[in-house]
Formats: sequence, C-alpha cells, structure tokens
Amino acid sequence: MSSQSYLQKPPLTLNPSILSPSRSSPASFQINLFQSHQKPTQNKLNGCKNSCSSLLPAAVKGGSSSGILSAIGRAIEEEEEYRKARAEVHKKSVDLEGYSVEGISIGGHETCVVVPQLKAAFDIGRCPSRAVHQNFLFITHAHLDHIGGLPMYVATRGLYSLKPPTIFVPPCIKEDVEKLFDIHRAMSNVELNLDLVALDIGETYEMRNDLVVRPFKTHHVIPSQGYVVYSVRKKLRKQYMHLKGKQIEKLKKSGVEITDTILCPEVAFTGDTKSDFFLDPRNADALRAKILITEVKPFAFSNHMMHLYEISLKATFLDECVTVEHARDHGHTHLFEILEHAQWIRSKAVILTHFSPRYNIEDIRQAVSRLQSKVSAKVIALTEGFKSKYS
Ligand SMILES: [Zn+2]
Ligand SMILES: [Zn+2]
Repeated sequence: MSSQSYLQKPPLTLNPSILSPSRSSPASFQINLFQSHQKPTQNKLNGCKNSCSSLLPAAVKGGSSSGILSAIGRAIEEEEEYRKARAEVHKKSVDLEGYSVEGISIGGHETCVVVPQLKAAFDIGRCPSRAVHQNFLFITHAHLDHIGGLPMYVATRGLYSLKPPTIFVPPCIKEDVEKLFDIHRAMSNVELNLDLVALDIGETYEMRNDLVVRPFKTHHVIPSQGYVVYSVRKKLRKQYMHLKGKQIEKLKKSGVEITDTILCPEVAFTGDTKSDFFLDPRNADALRAKILITEVKPFAFSNHMMHLYEISLKATFLDECVTVEHARDHGHTHLFEILEHAQWIRSKAVILTHFSPRYNIEDIRQAVSRLQSKVSAKVIALTEGFKSKYS
C-alpha cells in the first residue's frame, strides 16, 4: 500500500455506544454511542466534561453538558485532525524558501525531484508526469534509479509537443547517453529531440538571464556530480553606495559599470554520494544553498544505538543492515555522518531523500527529528511512496 492510501479510513460513523477512537491506527476510528452493556459512569462523564469541554466545537458548546456531547466534540476534532493528516500525506509538494519542491525518491527504485519555479527536474529514475513539464533535467549519475526514465521523459515531451528539453549529464556519460537515444530512435522509429549538455565541474551554464547552474563534485561508486542552481543578482558596488539616486543614474548613463554580479546559491541537489562531499571546501555553495537536497541511509533508531553514537562518533554502528561502513562501501551517506557534519550545513532547509523502501514513514520521521536537533535548517524528508507502520 502506498503512503497515499495508508490514511484511508471509512467515513465517520455514529453508532449507539461509547465513543471509542481506535488507537491502534490513526487512520481509523469509529464513534460509538450508547454501548448497551457498558454504560458510562458519572465519574467518566465528569472527567470527560472537565477535560474535553474546551474541545467542543461552538455548535455543540452551550447545549447539554453530558459526556456524550463532549465525546461527539472530541470525535469531530479527531476527524478534523485526521483530515489535516490526510491532506499532508496527499499534498504533493513542500513549500520552502519561496520554492515548491516535489518528487519521489526511493533508494534503488527511483529518484526524481522537481522544482517548478526553476523549470527543473533532478534525476529521473522513472518518469513521473510532473517531471515532463520541466524544461531542464539534471542527471547526477547513470544508476538506473536516477536515469532509467530518461527516454520516456524525452519521448513524452515530444508527444505533448513541448520544446526539446535541455538535459545535463556528467561529461563522461554523454557519449553513452547519445548512443542510448540512437538505439531508441532506431528501435521505435520516433524522433527524440533533446539538447544534451555535458557540463563539467567548475563550468557554468546560463539557464535564464537570472539563473545559472554549476555542477559540484560528489563521491559515489560510479562517476557522479551534484548541481547548484544560482540566482543572478546585481548589487551596487561598494564605492558608489554613498551616492544619491541621480548621481548613480548619471554614472550609469556615462557607461561606468556601477554594479557587481552576485550569484546566490538557491537549490543544491547532491544525488547519491558519500559524506566526503561535506568536507570538500569547493562544495561550500551546496552547503549554503537555501535548499539542500541530499541523500541519507538511516537505520531503525533505538535508544541504545543513539547512546553508542553519543559516546563515540568513531565507533562502527551496527544496525540489522546498515553501518557507516556499509553506507560508505556503497557510495552513500549514513545518517550518523550527516549528524557528524551537520555543523557545515548553512542551508535554510534540508530535504532528505533516497531512503530504502524497507523503512517506514515513522523511521524516516525519526531520522528527520535527529537531524533537526542538530541544525537550524528546517529538515524535511520526501516520503511519497513509503508505507506507514499503520498501513
Ligand atoms: Zn540511487
Ligand atoms: Zn547510485
């Protein structure tokens, strides 16, 4: 069952018995009034009245003071909470720092993160429909969970008569990607139009006159790179800051360059990488981008494990499956390593991605709260496609 369906519940039902919200699953509860064999005691009613009277909605308040009405009030409130939770799960995007970010990222299955304001998608493991309308696609590396949807992305844009996309790849895979499209053209006898750009680390590409992108080095088991998208701003040069508007205007008209061009890192996407990328000073812009989208391998937390972590960061931490060494051997970043390097994160928001499908939403939320306790950035995880333990 997908995360979208885990909160599905039957409609609110009113039965003649005591209100009994089910705690076994937040996704389902029933209102039962007047259970014939179990009459509520006066104490229960009083307790309910005292503790819940403030929860009664206005329409119920002021009526009978019986516990039944309190119970109905509580039920309505829980129904409201449920609706909010469901809306959160169904919500496709998160709004952060002026950007809405959406996507799906399940380690080994598919990663595709979309930022519509930038008209950009990062990686394309499969081809979610929301990616199709993004003009720019940034590929971090050639593992299929990051590149598998590439031909469909190009073909679907052709189908919708959208302009050929601009697709950025690490230079070392450009030739193979061209061959891949040649094979698809030959097999399917369709035009597949795209602008393929091999963009190397240190190079800059102008996406718009106010937006540029630069790749940065990441460390995976095959060649890989991340991307930082920058906004381009003009700032009045220091030596002219004391001048008045008319004087500045005059200088400008005389042809003097009065502004400096400033690049502000807006969104950084790492793709798969070992934690080494945190320590490379050349990656500072990624770590101070307003939004840092990075990967993590967490594990099911226990207090014992956290105790081990807190007494020695150098220890090897055994989980049932994932240790720091295991994560490094597979070119990934362990949650402990992010915690260790959290001091270098200057971003306003961090989006965690690429969780293994064996984790549930509750495990992921724990990972988020552990990192949240270490950074001032707002920490969020992409959980679309993950199950809840309440599923
Ligand atoms: Zn991956
Ligand atoms: Zn990979």
